[in-house]
Amino acid sequence: MVNQDPTNPSHALFDQFVQSQTCKEVQRTFSELCHHLQLDPRDYQSFYTKLKERLNYWKAKALWIKLDKRAQHQDYQQGKVCAKTKCLVLGAGPCGLRTAIELALLGAQVVVLEKRDSFSRNNVLHLWPYTIYDLRGLAAKKFYGKFCTGALDHISIRQLQLILLKVSLLLGVEVHTGVEFKGFVEPSEATGWMAELFPDDHPAGKFQFDVFISAGGGRFVPDGFRWKELRGKLAIGITCNFINHHSAAEAQVAEISGVARIYNQKFFQDLLTEKGIDLENIVYYKDATHYFVMTAKKKSLLKMGVIKQDFSDANQLLGQANVDQDALLRYAHGAAHFSTGHRLPNMQFALNHAGQPDVAMFDFTCMHRAENASLVRERKGKKLLMGLVGDCLVEPFWPLGTGIARGFLAAFDTAWMVRSWGKGKPHLEVVAERESIYQLLSQTTPENINKNYSAFSIDPATRYQHVNLNSIKANQVRNTQILSITL
Ligand code: FAD
Repeated sequence: MVNQDPTNPSHALFDQFVQSQTCKEVQRTFSELCHHLQLDPRDYQSFYTKLKERLNYWKAKALWIKLDKRAQHQDYQQGKVCAKTKCLVLGAGPCGLRTAIELALLGAQVVVLEKRDSFSRNNVLHLWPYTIYDLRGLAAKKFYGKFCTGALDHISIRQLQLILLKVSLLLGVEVHTGVEFKGFVEPSEATGWMAELFPDDHPAGKFQFDVFISAGGGRFVPDGFRWKELRGKLAIGITCNFINHHSAAEAQVAEISGVARIYNQKFFQDLLTEKGIDLENIVYYKDATHYFVMTAKKKSLLKMGVIKQDFSDANQLLGQANVDQDALLRYAHGAAHFSTGHRLPNMQFALNHAGQPDVAMFDFTCMHRAENASLVRERKGKKLLMGLVGDCLVEPFWPLGTGIARGFLAAFDTAWMVRSWGKGKPHLEVVAERESIYQLLSQTTPENINKNYSAFSIDPATRYQHVNLNSIKANQVRNTQILSITL
């Protein structure tokens, strides 16, 4: 007779793990659970199977059903296709973790490095329908009951990271926080590719890998990759978060999924007349916080004293020394208050990781896009496949919420690339195929990707409408993406 006693310590630990609300708590409860069940989380090949065998608990079983369904997909060949592949993933943001999950399902050994030691971003991400479907398939609702209930199509960055961290750990991914990737240690006759880390005595520095995935966000593009800058007209974004007290009055206030000046001139004119605030657009999402993102006009920021002095250089314009923080708080508060019809009661700023009101102003006048998504380095006859995913591949345009949608597409495409690598496909062909697929990424919209979400897999043909895996030929990547020095 199976022990289904609710006071069973492993059941209690599992419940705590599932409900953990901070990165540290997830790691602690996971390690306690492993210890209690006498499981070694580094035993990545059989960790998940053993966990299932030892944790005979109905709540856990509901989770296994979801994860098993995913794991049984033919693309993963029962986790055998990349059984010899060792992957280092830089960054435990949503895209790094989403990639790590796919690599683990392919059977690879996966180590994730994250320089921060907490998940603290309140800002809210817009989710395209396919990403909601994808996350439900990873049991997002079991980890976060409020996940996309009703018509909600967004989630806070930190909550998404927590869900993906939990799934990663259950699938045998090793996640190290508080450790920074500094560069590569090149192979010797006796050793393979390794990473230089801070702190420099971190045990993950001993890990030898043949695949490196950078998901470092923003402009973190590793050496060897080139990027393009796309410059538009000056665009100043402001994000802010207010505490959600979860009162009945707050529940009544309608979200704004996006209102742009060209569609509602009266709204923006009234805002300017009443508050002196001049915006191009504004979005309001109700999540763990009340989250607003808006594009503000420089002239009104100057007039309201938020920006002290006009400069043509955006870095100087928005540099700390040129911004009056109190005026910025008043500006953001005013816009949020007006756009919700003055109906949000008791508007107090939520705090950011530094304990300050969570308001930020940023420039998205120019955005970066990596020219290539992959390359291969070779030293001492040892090859390293490198790939970029998420914001460091294509910097997203926040107001359109493309970050997660295109970030997850790139995560799947990258997993497909690693699958080909694991299968022993010639490296020039692996890279050429990855670049052929990358050409499609920036054109994807919720309308033009395939609609049969249940058929989505890491195979690009299931997701993109017109994909030609050979549009770039192996000889076209030979000179730019194969960095080979055989010493
Ligand atoms: P990120 O989420 O940025 O994750 C990258 C991770 O890599 C980080 O955790 C970072 O600490 C880690 N890292 C970087 N360098 C190293 C290193 N050398 N060693 C180890 N770890 C490293 N999008 C929106 O749509 N709306 C928003 O309001 C919004 N706000 C944002 C606010 C901030 C402060 C940031 C940074 C991003 C924001 N974004 C927003 C973008 C959004 O978070 C990303 O599109 C999304 O999280 C996917 O990004 P990612 O996983 O590629 O990178």
